[in-house]
Amino acid sequence: ERVREILSQVEERGDNRLGVEAMELFDAYGIPTPEGEVVDDPTAAAEVAARIDGDVVMKIVSPDILHKSDIGGVRVGVSAADVADTYEDLVSRARSYQPDARILGVQVQEMLDLDDGVETIVGSHRDPQFGPLVMFGLGGVFVEVLEDTTFRLAPVAAGEAEQMTADIDAAPLLRGARGRTPVDLDATVDAIRRVSQLVADFPSIVELDVNPLVATPDGVRAVDLRLTVD
Ligand code: ADP
Ligand code: MG
Repeated sequence: ERVREILSQVEERGDNRLGVEAMELFDAYGIPTPEGEVVDDPTAAAEVAARIDGDVVMKIVSPDILHKSDIGGVRVGVSAADVADTYEDLVSRARSYQPDARILGVQVQEMLDLDDGVETIVGSHRDPQFGPLVMFGLGGVFVEVLEDTTFRLAPVAAGEAEQMTADIDAAPLLRGARGRTPVDLDATVDAIRRVSQLVADFPSIVELDVNPLVATPDGVRAVDLRLTVD
């Protein structure tokens, strides 16, 4: 029900794309997201950061900016003291890069440990012939360069999702290559399965990207979401 509400709100706004709004949709489907919030002033940003343990990540929130890091719209490792200044800086960068962009605010997010984690991608698009497909692969900002992905028809059962995590070239990375601690594969499999169920349940979702889904030894977190509805 909540999912339906969120999707119709987007339609009313006249947009067919969702970003951070989709975080709530993921909550409804039991897909873990990092702690955090979207705020629209520096003071509120500092308040959110104060509630989060350690440094935070801050990101510009605009329906007109799809690849945030391309314009310097993502700041990793921001200390509490720098949050307010970083807020102003992110907004002014976005404005100078794209003066007509609608800027909704800044997302303040828990920072995940990527030393111990692997950036994966879970995606979906609707094939005109076969219907919704779910994709899994190695994620992060170099996803197009690496092209290490595998596809199945959605929804997938746990066994199929598990097979997907074994299919990619980067599979050894997940299993803990070179003395690394293995990531939580069960949580990764579960996230793939839940995303596939979401797109199967809502035919209006024509495209979805979770990039990255950060997989760590302690679980997974959907860090960056992009979703297109028709
Ligand atoms: P975009 O893809 O729009 O540039 P992302 O939210 O995916 O924006 O952030 C870009 C990159 O920044 C991620 O691929 C990841 O390497 C890093 N990053 C983003 N959020 C976090 C986070 N919460 N913790 C750790 N690293 C992050
Ligand atoms: Mg991303």
